[in-house]
Amino acid sequence: MEKQTRNPSVLVIGAGMSGILMGIKLREAGITDITIVEKGDGVGGTWRENTYPGVSCDVPAHMYAYSFEPSVGWDDRFAEGAQIRQYFQQAADKYGITGLVRFNEEVTAARYREGRWRVTTSKGAQLTVDFIVAATGILHHPAVPDIPGLSDFTGPSFHTARWDHSLDLKDKRVGVIGTGSTAAQVIPALVNQGVPVSIFQRTPQWMFPRPDAHYSPLYKKTLARFPFLATLIGRLWAWYYAQMFAKMVIGKPVQFWITDRIVRKNLEKAVPDPALRAKLTPDYRVGCKRLVLASDFFEAVQQPNCELITDDIYHVEADGIVTRDGHKHPLDVLILATGFHHLNFMRPMDLTGRDGMHIEDAWQQQCLNYRSVTIPGFPNFFLMTGPNSPVGNFSVTRVAEVQANYMMKLIRRWQKGQFDAIDPKPAAAESFLARIKANMAGTVWTGGCQSWYLDPTGTPALWPFTFGQWVEEMKEPNLADFDVY
Ligand code: NAP
Repeated sequence: MEKQTRNPSVLVIGAGMSGILMGIKLREAGITDITIVEKGDGVGGTWRENTYPGVSCDVPAHMYAYSFEPSVGWDDRFAEGAQIRQYFQQAADKYGITGLVRFNEEVTAARYREGRWRVTTSKGAQLTVDFIVAATGILHHPAVPDIPGLSDFTGPSFHTARWDHSLDLKDKRVGVIGTGSTAAQVIPALVNQGVPVSIFQRTPQWMFPRPDAHYSPLYKKTLARFPFLATLIGRLWAWYYAQMFAKMVIGKPVQFWITDRIVRKNLEKAVPDPALRAKLTPDYRVGCKRLVLASDFFEAVQQPNCELITDDIYHVEADGIVTRDGHKHPLDVLILATGFHHLNFMRPMDLTGRDGMHIEDAWQQQCLNYRSVTIPGFPNFFLMTGPNSPVGNFSVTRVAEVQANYMMKLIRRWQKGQFDAIDPKPAAAESFLARIKANMAGTVWTGGCQSWYLDPTGTPALWPFTFGQWVEEMKEPNLADFDVY
């Protein structure tokens, strides 16, 4: 085979939104040697794992869909989780991705040796590939809080990403720990079903009213007739989110002021009782923690079957939670809406790059990366939605598309024989991160709160510039920033 037409073998890890996307892009480029390894039993990633009541998108579904695959069938502007999962299943089927996936198999180790990646899976399979794309997602390792006595609880207890659907919660007193984006969806869903809920809030959240809408049959019929309208609506929402939230978080004064006014007014209007309102009022800047988009949380908190507990949790007992004030809150079921280990990325995979460099050593201090998609010392290894991706309150699908195009440009150069291996220079990665750090000061993420955005050094692992600038900088890889061999 001629050098110009080399057909690389590519392993994609994960068949969620970004893994399916990468499969589509690789196939579009005519690459045939593609393997996708998925530890779950189906595609859909986070939408397969998160099936808790109330799960839905908190960006408009039209902008969450792939830009090249508009959906004309959304039932709601903020579509329910099951429908989003179905969307990705249909996309995987339509683009011939499902057949490439090895389900119920996990990549346990990958080692770069003699110019190629040697991969081991949980089923003992050994694969040798030219490229690895870790499309392993950000939020899929549930964080179980380190609360004394948690394991002593004798009733059912589970994380929101591991929902136990066999359980009938009717007439059970349910405790929910956490008030993040997940809790803001699950709590109203439970309260509206009449389930008695005790919310354990450590930190209140700013909540932006979500402009919900249920789409009529006429709307869907019109989109089915003119699918370009779905694309257009997705683009308009993406433009609005890029102008509004993506600029608010990096501290643009007008967007910040508008958002700040809206969340304060929202709280004031929704919660007339000043004492309850005080408990629900954050003491940090809006956007510092990921802005929660929810319309029904405050309403749920004020229902007679819902109780807001703001005293710190002291410990858990067999049948309830004891708070610092010494009060015991009896519970039948305990739900952990406590978030994820967001810095795991592809870990706990045993990943060893060039010259025996292990990922745990490479990332001991910080998640050193170049442009979120590559790691020095790990040649021909790509990350989807890696550290410092611009993921805060924006469509992660749009982010993944830009990254997939960037990776495809590098893979195409490999196909043309311009190099066998590409590895970002440590200096390029360090200057990329130094520039990011130097520009974090003006962002809302440094606004005096604890959040999952922060890395172990307390620096937000995000992008402190506009989304437009990021797209511009990701247009063309700069080969001078890579060692190629
Ligand atoms: P999260 O935002 O990290 O929130 C975790 C919650 O658990 C916080 O309220 C936290 O309190 C609380 N918590 C953690 N440990 C605790 C402890 N030991 N004691 C008491 N409280 C504790 O997690 P999440 O709500 O699952 O959301 C994570 C991310 O997933 C979101 O930011 C978003 O990006 C994504 N998400 C998206 C959607 C969507 O619709 N697209 C829906 C859900 C989630 P503190 O605030 O005090 O730390």
